[in-house]
Amino acid sequence: MSSSAGTSFYQFQYCDLCKLSHKQRKKKHVYSKRHQLTLKNTLLKLTEKVKIAKLSLGCPDIQSFGWEAGARVWCYFCQCEVPKHQARQDCTIANASFIHHLAHVDHAKKMHAFFWENWIPAGQKVDFFISREDAVR
Ligand SMILES: [Zn+2]
Ligand SMILES: [Zn+2]
Repeated sequence: MSSSAGTSFYQFQYCDLCKLSHKQRKKKHVYSKRHQLTLKNTLLKLTEKVKIAKLSLGCPDIQSFGWEAGARVWCYFCQCEVPKHQARQDCTIANASFIHHLAHVDHAKKMHAFFWENWIPAGQKVDFFISREDAVR
């Protein structure tokens, strides 16, 4: 096994949120101005999307078939693209797929990890997921 000679004392770390490599210790970077600003904007954008999605809970927003086909939402917690609407045989239910994702166990797990890593007050969590009971309605 060859040891990686020349590796500097500080390892570069990549921050998914800021989309940059940095040499700071993780905690120090999380507290940096740049990261905090990115974090704030990211959460704000996501909150808006979740808010809109939550509006259709209990009263599904039915659109015509093929409406906004292929629309996706980027989930910052899961680092993946989530389909936004749910296509049915003859119609599209707006935000249904996104709501389904927000209610998923894995999403909740990743969200908890994200909040933990970024030192966000737990009280804000409620804005980013939907309980199963609400999603089924
Ligand atoms: Zn960062
Ligand atoms: Zn997610």
